[in-house]
Amino acid sequence: MTAVAQDREVSVVEAAPKKLYINGQWRDASGGATLEVHDPSTGEVLCSVADATEEDGWEALRAAEAAQESFAAMPPRKRADILMKAFELMHERKDDLALLMTLEMGKPLAEAYGEVNYAAEFFRHFAEEATRISGNYQTAPAGNARFIVAKQPVGPSILITPWNFPLAMGTRKLGPAIAAGCTSVLKPAELTPLSMLALAQLLEDAGVPAGVVNIVVTSTAGKVMEPLIRSGIARKLSFTGSTGVGKKLLEQCADKVMRTSMELGGNASFVVFEDADLDKAVEGAMQAKMRNSGEACTAANRIFVHESVISEFSEKLAARMGELQVGRGVAEGTTVGPMVDAKQRDKVAELVDDAVKSGAEVVLGGEPAAGEGFFYKPTVLKGVPREARMWREEIFGPVAPVTPFTDEGEVIKWVNSTEYGLVNYVFTENLNRALRVAEAVESGMVGINQGVVSNPAAPFGGVKESGLGREGGDIGIDEFLESKYIGIAVN
Ligand code: NAP
Repeated sequence: MTAVAQDREVSVVEAAPKKLYINGQWRDASGGATLEVHDPSTGEVLCSVADATEEDGWEALRAAEAAQESFAAMPPRKRADILMKAFELMHERKDDLALLMTLEMGKPLAEAYGEVNYAAEFFRHFAEEATRISGNYQTAPAGNARFIVAKQPVGPSILITPWNFPLAMGTRKLGPAIAAGCTSVLKPAELTPLSMLALAQLLEDAGVPAGVVNIVVTSTAGKVMEPLIRSGIARKLSFTGSTGVGKKLLEQCADKVMRTSMELGGNASFVVFEDADLDKAVEGAMQAKMRNSGEACTAANRIFVHESVISEFSEKLAARMGELQVGRGVAEGTTVGPMVDAKQRDKVAELVDDAVKSGAEVVLGGEPAAGEGFFYKPTVLKGVPREARMWREEIFGPVAPVTPFTDEGEVIKWVNSTEYGLVNYVFTENLNRALRVAEAVESGMVGINQGVVSNPAAPFGGVKESGLGREGGDIGIDEFLESKYIGIAVN
């Protein structure tokens, strides 16, 4: 990947949409307020975008409500064609989408290309699902009736997404919503609105009718979204973000008994048994830890390595982590970008300092990088004790804490000693052990001898406080469908 020239950076930001997208119109915020978008690798302002008020939020929801009936009536084949067109346009525009994402979020350009590809796959996957929505026909056990079960769109939906995967977390919701025939109001994270606004432009170009997808960017998320959620006009909330905010939104949804999908925080364990292929395990750990510079809900937060192989594993991991190149995401050779903002970088620093105070040994890194931007050095910590905060809290940074264990039962207890349950990783060459451990760990997903589980064709989601529902796979579309049972008496 070659370095990106500065005039190309300027021109892609200049060309990006910066207004709200409501009812098929690009509009300023009522009152004209704007918010600034920053480049986390320099801290400098990239541009300003419209900052929605409560009134703008209401207009977006009313537009979604008005468009619902006609969109639900659109033939599934047509909805599929729109999604397939959007998939193709994402590939045509991948250079601009990837660069915009890197500039506003910081991830290395190669990873941004990877995300554009991953995000586009949700459109292709759900284009294929749109025409396969089916129901059921059944004879009542007593023989005196027939049951028809029809699948219908749940209705207007509110979609809220985080900053760490600015495109993919949007397409993972918009794909099934459009496939199922649901209109939506989507609120992207304040830190990364440009990717979602560019996606809105792309959806318009792909033929999404006015009012079907509405994008509301705001610096006052709670104030703008709470009345919309509590109104009962939307019938579904699909949220990806932190567990704390998710819990708050669940309470708001209770008011009108809204359907919810909650993709929340994680505290993944990465377990390396003594019979694992250590080179494979190190590569897996690099993926599970360093994807998105550690700013991923699936990131390996606790790495447990059998005591007989921990020295060799730690040395190899530190060597691989030491090869990483920290820098601006657009620079040639960069493999680790900045944290998304100063708050995130400082939180990583705080967690590392706390672990070191509790007795962890720094094998590599262990401090923020000097200079402009919000960088933290790739870090390996050995012997992180259970009292350390990073046992319980998401690190969300390039920090690999390695802890020894001695037996399987003990490590399973440690893995499960968290309120989170999104994903865990297990490395072993013993098939019986792999299945035994995969069944015993409390998480919605398990990676065996692999450090990445995300795949649009597989059901992504967590248990416990990591969430409710699944995105992707053959069940992802069900999150936007209701089952209606129609009973017919038969004489
Ligand atoms: P966050 O602070 O919970 O924010 C997520 C989204 O919710 C943002 O759009 C945010 O808007 C919005 N929000 C915040 N407070 C709100 C409120 N009171 N009402 C309505 N919306 C509100 O999370 P984040 O820091 O952006 O993302 C990181 C978290 O997301 C991590 O915990 C990570 O594990 C989780 N995550 C989970 C998955 C998954 O699939 N399970 C995937 C990716 C990330 P503002 O930006 O304006 O604050």
